[in-house]
Amino acid sequence: MATGKIVTVEEQVEEVRERMAVGQVDRLTERSSYVYKRQGEPCLVCGSRIRTRIVGGRNLFWCGRCQRRR
Ligand SMILES: [Zn+2]
Repeated sequence: MATGKIVTVEEQVEEVRERMAVGQVDRLTERSSYVYKRQGEPCLVCGSRIRTRIVGGRNLFWCGRCQRRR
């Protein structure tokens, strides 16, 4: 990959922690932390494919199905 910046798992976890501190993360988002290093693998909850996207220079991973149900 020619991506200029790779965000580490630690950085993503820390961002989630910060959001949790201010009450912006619900249980579903918190649970999604397991998908960080599962790109290309099925979601453990629903079996849907894990998705990835570069947002603001950050490499984000999420389950399209679980997080779309909000
Ligand atoms: Zn899922």
